[in-house]
Amino acid sequence: MKILVVNAGSSSLKYQLFDMDTNAAIAKGNCERIGIDGVVTHKCPGKPDYKTEAAFPDHRAAIECVLKLLTDKELGVIGSVDEISAVGHRFAHGGEKLRASAALGADEIKYLESIVGLNPLHGPPAISGFKACKEVMPNINHVGVFDTSYYSDMEEKAYIYPIPYELYEDYRIRRYGFHGTSHRYVAAKAAELLGNKNAKIVTCHLGNGSSITATVNGKAIDTSMGFTPQDGVPMGTRSGAIDPTVVTYIQKVKNVGAEEADAILNKKSGLLGVSGVSSDCRDVSEAAENGNARAKLALDILVHNIKKIIGSYVAEMNGVDALVFTAGIGENDRELRAAVCKDMSWLGIEMDENVNATCPRGEIADVSAKGAKVKTYVIPTNEEYMIALDTLNLTK
Ligand code: AMP
Repeated sequence: MKILVVNAGSSSLKYQLFDMDTNAAIAKGNCERIGIDGVVTHKCPGKPDYKTEAAFPDHRAAIECVLKLLTDKELGVIGSVDEISAVGHRFAHGGEKLRASAALGADEIKYLESIVGLNPLHGPPAISGFKACKEVMPNINHVGVFDTSYYSDMEEKAYIYPIPYELYEDYRIRRYGFHGTSHRYVAAKAAELLGNKNAKIVTCHLGNGSSITATVNGKAIDTSMGFTPQDGVPMGTRSGAIDPTVVTYIQKVKNVGAEEADAILNKKSGLLGVSGVSSDCRDVSEAAENGNARAKLALDILVHNIKKIIGSYVAEMNGVDALVFTAGIGENDRELRAAVCKDMSWLGIEMDENVNATCPRGEIADVSAKGAKVKTYVIPTNEEYMIALDTLNLTK
């Protein structure tokens, strides 16, 4: 059975085609610069990578281009579009009602349209990507997989903010959490490695956007991102959690409006804001190694905040069985992983620094010290596969 996974953004449409008999992605690519000048990349294992300019004015033209590539005699991997059994669509936000992955019918789309205010950047393009796919593939199942749904079982004490309750009732202001599909995937893998589905696990998704989640018995009980992905640990350009009064104070002292203050905290903060070098962790690490004090400070702040959140989740869960690192930084930055795990032996977290420094990239690795009470794993995330799996399960 072949499942197509689609992740539609405002100017891009990423895709992967999975063969669910072998659990492998057999083609993947990205239509970029939709509505501008259009570039498509397409990769299939065993075939040369393909990249070309292609005019796609909208998501519909982009998905038509994808289907043409997938069925192309030389570049493609399927004989006809009919071989695609279902499409899984990634949505960042499922609001409070879409609590699990779901077949997308009129009611689900109406609800998603009603909550675009909560998710103005990702919501509208994801809906438009779905509509385009539905138009060109009307007779198969389309499933929505929501980053927020992993957090649907959190208790009120974890998701209600201590602000006037009416703000929750009237505007649905609460912690939603994001990156849920990634945390769900790596937490399930860690539970499998531990051989304990009731395990207490802290998963650190550290990439350009970063979040940390606490999982017990396969369910998320808390997470660092909140009403938006701005909360939690510092990121490439986002500040993460700060005293909320900083926002209104910036507005006053810089004489700027809400949008400008928001841009400062979302686009000019984090690694970029502190280091003044880059939002990319590799650039910041290189600058720090070359003696740039602010770059070093940016990394120290990142490690300090990651540790703080891990510690608070261990306290919430009354223990921890595994700590997991994933995403661009978590999977690749050995020094950062070592810095996070340093001086955590009191919690039972001890890393084998040699294994951590030499484990191959792109593979699952157990980097815990021999005899450590807590297992520390590096687990490459695979959100697209998780989306394909949910789509398969809802299609069968
Ligand atoms: P992601 O958003 O998951 O793609 O992660 C992007 C982040 O991962 C960027 O900050 C990159 O600098 C970081 N990253 C990717 N590869 C490496 C690497 N080899 N070493 C350190 N950081 C890396």
